[in-house]
Amino acid sequence: MKRILVTGGDGQLGQCFRQLALARPDLRWKIVGRTELDIARPEACRALLADWQPDVCFNAAAYTAVDKAESDEAGAWQVNVDGAAQLAAACAATGCRLLHYSTDYVYAGHYNRPLRETDETDPQGVYGATKLAGEQAVLQQLPSALIVRTSWVYSAYGHNFLRSMLRLGRERAQLRVVFDQVGSPTAADDLAVASLQMALAPVAAGGGIYNYSHEGVCSWYDFAAAIFEMAGIRTELLPIESADFPTPARRPNFSVLNKTKIKETFGLQIPHWRTGVRRVLNQLEPVSSNNSQT
Ligand code: NDP
Repeated sequence: MKRILVTGGDGQLGQCFRQLALARPDLRWKIVGRTELDIARPEACRALLADWQPDVCFNAAAYTAVDKAESDEAGAWQVNVDGAAQLAAACAATGCRLLHYSTDYVYAGHYNRPLRETDETDPQGVYGATKLAGEQAVLQQLPSALIVRTSWVYSAYGHNFLRSMLRLGRERAQLRVVFDQVGSPTAADDLAVASLQMALAPVAAGGGIYNYSHEGVCSWYDFAAAIFEMAGIRTELLPIESADFPTPARRPNFSVLNKTKIKETFGLQIPHWRTGVRRVLNQLEPVSSNNSQT
């Protein structure tokens, strides 16, 4: 029975792996939160990998506070670069396959066509810079590692745009949302399923960077409108420009990912983003039905 280790088990993606583990009892799972494995502690990574000997490790642990990272570069670096590298080194030492996650924020977002893995990177903020350095550090330690760049991740768990919109839609009569940042939302549960398919594929599939997001394209405004429409929320939505909603970290204006490589290599079928939104809203039924004003 294959042994699967997941780090960052209390985050959005980690929680989705916990659900996936229930559906896949044919695999032996160990899903650890930060208290059980702090990836910033190299000896802890080494000890867990050596002790448990997983076949596959999904690194869902990350410093994801994008705006906070602007004033806490050392903190973001410690997890997203050093931690990722330490985990990769521990995987290399025990022959474990690693799948690590990165972000659309490694791109500047100046293109207006879907971004390929080989396109120029130019992160606009500290978070993106640490995630890019993390990719490089992981591949340096373990060239066979799979790196998945994803975007606009949401789920029924933790802090994310969908859950924020549901809460704000309940609280406010009117909401302003930016419409000049365009990308593709990604449901974390589908990302977990796709990740497992990748990691269990023949090793010949090869390490390197793969882009993954849901199909289709929208702005944050469109995303919010779809959430409200599907959840029956009638809050008035007003489109605004990013300049009207300044944040400490700059976001890419265009972060639609080209997924040809991941689809062709692993035979993945990727759903449209609206399909993911509908499913996650159904998972949150008690919350979304409270929101319904019908
Ligand atoms: P979350 O922030 O929901 O989860 C990250 C988890 O990592 C948290 O539980 C966090 O714990 C934990 N963590 C932080 N530091 C450490 C550490 N030193 N050791 C162990 N665990 C730690 O992130 P997501 O699930 O949304 O993201 C998963 C991956 O996808 C990340 O690599 C992220 O960069 C990437 N990604 C996410 C996007 C998004 O929109 N969310 C978009 C693109 C990429 P704690 O809460 O205690 O800090």
